[in-house]
Amino acid sequence: MPEKSKVEKVVIIGSGPAGWTAAIYTARASLEPLVFEGAITEENRLAGTLPLGQLALTTEVENFPGFPAGDLEAYMDDSIDKSRRQIMAPHAKEGVSGPELMELMRQQASNFGTRIITDDIVEVDFDSHPFRLTASSGEVTEALCVIVATGARANYLGLPSEEAFKNRGVSACAVCDGALPRFRGKPVVVVGGGDSAVEEATFLTHFASEVHLVHRRDQLRASKIMAERALKSEKINIHWNSELGEVLGSDADGVTGARLKSTTGEPDREVEATGVFLAIGHTPNTAFLNGKLEMTPKKYLKWTVPFRTNTSVDGVFAAGDVADDYYRQAVTAAGSGCMAALDAERWLAARDG
Ligand code: NAP
Repeated sequence: MPEKSKVEKVVIIGSGPAGWTAAIYTARASLEPLVFEGAITEENRLAGTLPLGQLALTTEVENFPGFPAGDLEAYMDDSIDKSRRQIMAPHAKEGVSGPELMELMRQQASNFGTRIITDDIVEVDFDSHPFRLTASSGEVTEALCVIVATGARANYLGLPSEEAFKNRGVSACAVCDGALPRFRGKPVVVVGGGDSAVEEATFLTHFASEVHLVHRRDQLRASKIMAERALKSEKINIHWNSELGEVLGSDADGVTGARLKSTTGEPDREVEATGVFLAIGHTPNTAFLNGKLEMTPKKYLKWTVPFRTNTSVDGVFAAGDVADDYYRQAVTAAGSGCMAALDAERWLAARDG
């Protein structure tokens, strides 16, 4: 008789801070989690959905508690009690980078026995139990409990010129790329009018000579305090009622400028720029769920019980940006990964009586 395939206790889909934190907690609860961390493909690279999530696309991470930036060695010598200094010495270093933090989280999950498959889940069947998850390899995994932690990705406008200059001046992450030499002392364009656009434009003023903020309406969507910061900045030049028509550039130089279209019938105009940063919102990575979990109009997963990570299907939990279009921070994603792990653990315990 063929061997009956193993039913996993917990499968975690996604490998950002939420996924790895859920793995660390479920592994330590002896639930032997299996993580689908995503596939390493050119398609995923262009979509911004490679394993390790959005943090892997950033540089320094200064706001994840426990990893202060600066010379940590000197700080420890000056500030930490001598009896505790010894314990902390192996960790002394300078801050942490996004990719490094994600590798550390992955390693931490692995240390507790988490199994990792480097593939995407492309189809789910939540109608029967155990749940059935199909990977892009075609392999089917059965699971008693699932934690969805697939995150979100930055939106692009879909212009051919935008695609042509991705990584050669076009970016959707000023925080990741803003400090690169090509943007230093040069004008850049930021598209959008929300908090992200204003935050990115303000951040870029530290490097760029001028920031053209291009917004399709005559009013910013960003919160008042952030909008005021942008309006006051001498380096930010807001182009109201304007859209990005085309990214201008050449093979040799990458981005050299942008053609802006008016939404009120004014003639097109061109601005010089070495970079074009898109900040027009994010899309949660929920397409593979094919509507099988309840979602918001923007396709984020809905938490169906207040202050819990339950979704509309009993036994399926959601953590991180895939269920959060508001906080969107590494630490909040990690926190909700922990919540999902505890929710899953308790759900399994209650089921087993
Ligand atoms: P958002 O608030 O949805 O803003 C997206 C912006 O992009 C809007 O101004 C929108 O224009 C514009 N836009 C969307 N599609 C466009 C298109 N096809 N062409 C041109 N413009 C387009 O997204 P977000 O700024 O990423 O913020 C998401 C959430 O995170 C918000 O709740 C925000 O408060 C929060 N957040 C907070 C902070 C912070 O507090 N530090 C920082 C970042 C984000 P319209 O205004 O015309 O719709």
